[in-house]
Amino acid sequence: MQKNKLIELAIPHYRENQILELEHAIDMAAKAHSDQKRRSGEPYIIHPLTVANYLIEWGLDMDSVIAGVLHDTIEDTHLAVEDVEKHFGADVAFLVDGVTKVSKARSGMDSLDEYLPQTKDNLAKLIIAVSQDVRVIIIKLADRLHNLRTLKHTPPEKQVKVARESLDIFAPIADRIGMGQVRMEIEDIAFKHLDPKEYKKVQGMLKKRLGKSTKRLGAVRVELEKKLKEEGIKAEINGRIKTVYSLYRKLKKVNGDIDQIYDFMALRVIVGSKEDCYKVMGILHTMYEPELDRIKDYISQPKPNGYRSLHTTIKTPKDNKIVEFQIRTQKMHEYAEQGLAASFHYNQQKDSKKYAKRKDDSGVPKQLEWITELQKVAVRLGNDQAKPNEHLYLDLFEDTIFVYSPRGDIFSLPQGALPLDFAFLIHSDVAKRAHSFKVNDNIRAFNKPLENGDIVEVVTRENASPKKAWEALVTTHHARNKLRQQLRQMGIIETIGSAAAIIRRKALRQKSK
Ligand code: MN
Repeated sequence: MQKNKLIELAIPHYRENQILELEHAIDMAAKAHSDQKRRSGEPYIIHPLTVANYLIEWGLDMDSVIAGVLHDTIEDTHLAVEDVEKHFGADVAFLVDGVTKVSKARSGMDSLDEYLPQTKDNLAKLIIAVSQDVRVIIIKLADRLHNLRTLKHTPPEKQVKVARESLDIFAPIADRIGMGQVRMEIEDIAFKHLDPKEYKKVQGMLKKRLGKSTKRLGAVRVELEKKLKEEGIKAEINGRIKTVYSLYRKLKKVNGDIDQIYDFMALRVIVGSKEDCYKVMGILHTMYEPELDRIKDYISQPKPNGYRSLHTTIKTPKDNKIVEFQIRTQKMHEYAEQGLAASFHYNQQKDSKKYAKRKDDSGVPKQLEWITELQKVAVRLGNDQAKPNEHLYLDLFEDTIFVYSPRGDIFSLPQGALPLDFAFLIHSDVAKRAHSFKVNDNIRAFNKPLENGDIVEVVTRENASPKKAWEALVTTHHARNKLRQQLRQMGIIETIGSAAAIIRRKALRQKSK
């Protein structure tokens, strides 16, 4: 990616003064990175320019594109946030600073590798919180995507590490903000590097099956096209092919029995209106026999990441083969591919300043409001404080709140967690000496749940000690285990009881296998 090419790409989409600013940013970044090279041996500037290129392709506003050009300058060159602000304003500086912070938060998570896979989703949430503005995440995803696409230049050990992290954390982030296209590409490249043999094998299986599907789907497609024309419904029908990684994941679910998988390819019907989506589904169901339990209405009930579509699966009469359909409007389709990035589209002619200042409304779909909520928490705490640290402990609950120590360290707890849960999260010794709690500088009762964004201080006393009554005042497994340990050590509860409980639990587990 060269400067001229990037400018050429940008010209049709942005105003003239914005293009001039972009040129200025490119020159500044090129100068700052001038003595650096990528692992491939190419000049470093190619990387930020490619990131900016992706952002233009995804249709982001100019502030994001410029931030993409400058995204590595604060971390890797002599430039400071203040320099960026002086030349490009507070909004761009805010975005570049955000990207830098996410990188730092991420490296702070390196020690969390031993946690169970489910926890990774919480890490994804944490990064989203730290980033403070959805555009920061989008820039970070563009950065990650380019690093993955050029991963072959990295030493093998590092390849595996980057691939693992991409699969565990960045793909879920892309998914959470609805960027389906990016998620799929991250997954496929990462999987290819993590397990090249398995990747080849699954890819081979997919190719073989696709041959058969294409023919069958072709016939169904022609029939449907004809019928829709008769009914006067304008539609665009195309095929979507399963990715290697999603097939791999599905195969694992069905114990490798490929005959149980039917959606190697699905037909996608894109229509003009929501009403037409339902009409098309009705028509399909009169033409073919639907699998009733596979009908999904993600229009009236969108997925948590904002995805909307109707899904249905039908059987062909002659050969009894199964075909999956996804029916959606153009707008839903754009969202399915681009997710939140679509909300920042330059076509929407929104003033990007509004985004940086917005704290409440951003055109973010309702299901995704938790993102803005989470980010508000981070904003409230100001800048340097919202970072995870080595004490970070994540419980395995779906709904997570983030609370802070007075020092600004961020902790994740399940919704409904009580102050003692927080104390045990910090350290058993701190919890042991808990005398009272201050939440946002006010004394807080032991039985009142914490809320997202609370700053929690444990007030300790030398002579304080754990009490049996605390058993009713903890909610997490972690806190309960630690507390029971302490109570046992103090002889307040009996060891034998807990031994019996462990045996019973083991027996139950055995039974459920
Ligand atoms: Mn980068």
